[in-house]
Amino acid sequence: MSELRQNFSTKEWVVIATDRARRPEEMVRHRERKPLASFVANCPFCPGNEKLTPPEVLRVPASMDVPWHARVIPNKFAALSRDAQPTRTVHRTRRAINGFGVHDVIIETPDHSQVLALMPDSYVAEILRIYKIRYDELSLDPRIAHVTIFKNHGIDAGTSLEHPHSQMIATPVISLQVRERFQHALRHYDDFGECMFCQMIEEELEEQTRIVMASEHFVALEPYASPAPFSTHIYPRRHMASFGDVGGAEMSDLARVLRSTLARLYHGLADPDFNFTIRSAPAESVGVKHFHWYLSVIPRLTRVAGFELGSGMFINTVLPEAAAEFLRKVDVETVKDAVSAATL
Ligand SMILES: [Zn+2]
Ligand SMILES: [Zn+2]
Repeated sequence: MSELRQNFSTKEWVVIATDRARRPEEMVRHRERKPLASFVANCPFCPGNEKLTPPEVLRVPASMDVPWHARVIPNKFAALSRDAQPTRTVHRTRRAINGFGVHDVIIETPDHSQVLALMPDSYVAEILRIYKIRYDELSLDPRIAHVTIFKNHGIDAGTSLEHPHSQMIATPVISLQVRERFQHALRHYDDFGECMFCQMIEEELEEQTRIVMASEHFVALEPYASPAPFSTHIYPRRHMASFGDVGGAEMSDLARVLRSTLARLYHGLADPDFNFTIRSAPAESVGVKHFHWYLSVIPRLTRVAGFELGSGMFINTVLPEAAAEFLRKVDVETVKDAVSAATL
């Protein structure tokens, strides 16, 4: 029989449709992925085309073999404008703020064909360090209330540019969804005197069935009430409210766990389209005891349809425990060796 499960942190219900449950390997969507060239002459993110982008905000400089490792630039087609003072207007039932916000693009590598899942861990760590530098800068801006870091990989995840990149949008308001999650966590802290996420991580590590991997500082797991097949969360094991709290050694460890998680999805599910996002405490709430930041990876294997839109409830056709077992078994290092041997 199917089961309804409640997400402990959002209170949302999910239908785990075991009656029509699919085996994890049935979720692989075999489709043509055309091989990408490592340089594309008219790509604005490829090296040599730096003049096609707005002036850069930050760069990880060159080394022996590359002109630069990564660049941060303002989004040319930004959703919000960075050169404004947020001004709120309220007129009877209508409330608005002018379109202030900061929308950065992080170009992750000069190589057009590269993917995070196959990069060396040290490169992924450089990208995460850039996230943190910009996250810290933007969080200190008095005009900013919340910073969202995210990546769209593939058409089904909403990207239009092939060149590997991620994005960051800082807004002058905190969305209702973020605010509500924060309040659920605060209520739990008031009721039980503990961080609900720390408690959940402890329970999951005891039970083991939904753990994908655990390292010294991080744990990757399939949430108990996962809304979509193979949604994977990466949590710091130490209590930290904000992504800005990650220390140097922890960042290297996070890079290893993130890269390994993406590689498990890449090899296990044939390079699925995916989004990831970092859910961190709002800028005003650094250091709080009740909220715990995490990174959420969502492969885009199914589509949201009428039931989801109408009810706000998702149907997941893969048991989180089966997804975790499947991802644990993907032999990331061996497959990686085979890939690099084939390209030599
Ligand atoms: Zn490119
Ligand atoms: Zn915690």
